[in-house]
Amino acid sequence: MSVRQIAVYGKGGIGKSTTSSNLSAALSQLGEKVMQVGCDPKSDSTTTLLGGRLLTTILDAIRVKGMSAQTVKSVLARGFNDILCAEAGGPRPGTGCAGKGVAVALELLTKYGILEEYGISFALYDVLGDVVCGGFAQPMRRGYAAEIYLVTSGELMALYAANNIAKAVREMEADGAEVAIGGIIDNQRNVKGEEDLMKEFSERLNVPIVAHIPRSELVQAAEIQRKTVVETFPGSAQSEAYTKLAKAILSNKDRYLPTPM
Ligand code: ADP
Ligand code: MG
Repeated sequence: MSVRQIAVYGKGGIGKSTTSSNLSAALSQLGEKVMQVGCDPKSDSTTTLLGGRLLTTILDAIRVKGMSAQTVKSVLARGFNDILCAEAGGPRPGTGCAGKGVAVALELLTKYGILEEYGISFALYDVLGDVVCGGFAQPMRRGYAAEIYLVTSGELMALYAANNIAKAVREMEADGAEVAIGGIIDNQRNVKGEEDLMKEFSERLNVPIVAHIPRSELVQAAEIQRKTVVETFPGSAQSEAYTKLAKAILSNKDRYLPTPM
């Protein structure tokens, strides 16, 4: 059984964790055995899948208990619809590269065969992409997640970050990594001229938009209950948008080498 592995990248605050968690929830409802791995030092990727619980990170756990399969397993948790959740974690503030946790966590998940042991069919890595330093680029390396999705809105800084990630993908690919972009996720911010800007960005980058996610108050309403929209408001237009995104990704076989600006 091969595990489909994707990485979701984007600027901090753009909506990666919100989109990832709702996507995981929707994928699980479509029958996938999902694992979500938070790869942002903020370590709050999986919290809405866990009813507000904040997981101890893999990096923190191995610092305290030492490196073992048991230690890694002790900080995994099952969330909504049996989704397996993990947080990679980061270094103590001011020490070391912020992407280190990602590199270590991914290595350990592979080394200890966690995805196989837990019967995972779909793994999603939620990665901070403001800085594509060595650590954060790790999910692109060594075939962890050869398939990248860029989360962006029409805001310039979000597009700037997405373009930087596209550059990193090109560099990785040139270095021999098997990596490509599966598509852009348009998490709408409702800024002026957003639709045109996104369309132009997508064309310039040579990467299509896989789904448009509307800006919706239901996201905050669900967040207050520490849950995803998919769990809190099933059948709502917003929940349907996440299901549509999940279906689009499941059926997407296209990979694009971006042409960054
Ligand atoms: P990131 O993980 O990229 O740092 P988050 O997922 O934490 O970003 O999102 C940042 C904030 O944006 C969240 O508090 C969330 O409420 C809000 N948000 C994200 N996507 C949407 C959306 N489609 N509609 C409304 N609010 C959203
Ligand atoms: Mg996040």
